[in-house]
Amino acid sequence: MGWILCHVGRHLWHHERNPEVGGREADYEVCLRCGKERPVYGPPAPGSLIGM
Ligand SMILES: [Zn+2]
Repeated sequence: MGWILCHVGRHLWHHERNPEVGGREADYEVCLRCGKERPVYGPPAPGSLIGM
């Protein structure tokens, strides 16, 4: 059922941290339902909220 929400851009973001990167770029978020990743820094790219 959660995939339906993902398809409309309502991902269940979970904050993660990549120890291999370091700095602010180490922080990212992963959707617990579909596994999609996104950085948490910088402005969101236009259109990134809709599909790929
Ligand atoms: Zn998702």
